[in-house]
Amino acid sequence: MRCLVTGGAGFIGSHLVEHLLALGDDVVVLDDLSTGSERNLAAVASHPRLRLIKGDICVPDTVARAMEGVDEVYHLAAAVGVFTILDRTLESLRTNLTGTETVLDAARRHDVPLLLASTSEVYGKNTAEGLTEEDDRILGSPLKSRWSYSEAKALDETLAALYAARYGLRMVIARLFNTVGPRQSGQYGMVIPRFVDQALAGEPLTVFGDGTQIRCFCHVADVVPALVTLLRTEDAHGTVYNIGGTQPVTITELAERTIAATGSAGTLAKIPYTEAYGAGFEDMRRRVPNCDKAYRAIGFRAARTLDEIIADVVAERRAL
Ligand code: UDP
Repeated sequence: MRCLVTGGAGFIGSHLVEHLLALGDDVVVLDDLSTGSERNLAAVASHPRLRLIKGDICVPDTVARAMEGVDEVYHLAAAVGVFTILDRTLESLRTNLTGTETVLDAARRHDVPLLLASTSEVYGKNTAEGLTEEDDRILGSPLKSRWSYSEAKALDETLAALYAARYGLRMVIARLFNTVGPRQSGQYGMVIPRFVDQALAGEPLTVFGDGTQIRCFCHVADVVPALVTLLRTEDAHGTVYNIGGTQPVTITELAERTIAATGSAGTLAKIPYTEAYGAGFEDMRRRVPNCDKAYRAIGFRAARTLDEIIADVVAERRAL
C-alpha cells in the first residue's frame, strides 16, 4: 500500500507515518513545515519507504504530484491550535478551506479513498454529556475569530460528503477530541504540553478562565491505528466518527495531576481569557465525546488513561 499523509510532519501526522511504515506501507508526506517540522520525523528520516515533499496543499500541481501512484490519502494538513487560529485567522481559513478542497479534488481525480481529519471544534459550545455525531453545532458570532476554525472544518466535512455524493469519492471523517502525546507543541496553545513544560521549569501552570472547563484527552497512540482502520474498513466509509478519550477532566484538575506527575512544586496561575487570548474570546465549557459509533464500526476504544498520557509527555519532555 502506498499512502499519502498530508501534514505528515505534524504531531499526529508523524505518529501516523511511523505507524504506516511499521505496517510495511510506503508513505509520501506532503507538508509545508509551517507548524510541522522535520524533527518530528527524525526517527524515520532515512527510511527507504518514506518520501517527504515540502509543499502547500493549496497548490493543485503540488497535490497532484504527491498523489501520483497513491492508494489512500490521510488528510491531516491544517492550521491548528487556538493561538494559530487567532493570530493568523485569514491564512488559517485559506489552508483549511482551499487546501482541503484541493486535496479532495485530487483524490477524486485519482480515485483514491481519503480520510479527513476533522475536529470536535465543529460542535462549538454544545455541552452535551457525551457528544454524538448527530448533535447540533452551537457557535458564536462569525466575527469572532475562534469560530472560524470550527466553520472551516465543518465545511470541509460537508465538502467531503458532497464529493462522495457527486463524484463517488470514497471517504471517511474522523472528529478528533483533544489528541495529545509526545511531540505535540505547546507553542500553538495546546494545554498538556504547556502545563508539562511549565511544571518541569518550576513555573506556575497557566489555567485560563476559572479552570472548571472540561475536556477529554486521547493519546495519539490510540488515535492513529483508529484512523488507519477507519480508512481500511470499507463498510465504515461515507460518514463521520468521533475519536476521543473516556476520562473527562477539568483544566484545574489537569493542572494538579500534571504537578503530581512531575513532582514539581508547581502552583496554579489563573489567567483571564481576555489576557490569554484577547478580548471577546469564547471557550467551550465542556467537550466530551460519545465514541459508540466508532466502537460499533471498528471496535475503537481509547485504551490509555489520562495519567498515562501525562506520564508519556513528561517522559518525552524530560528527555529533550
Ligand atoms: N488552556 C489553559 N492553559 C493553557 C492552554 C490552554 O488553561 O496554557 C485551556 C484552554 O483555555 C481550554 C483547554 O485548556 O479551555 C484546552 O485547550 P487546548 O487549546 O489544548 O484545546 P481546545 O481549546 O481546542 O479544547
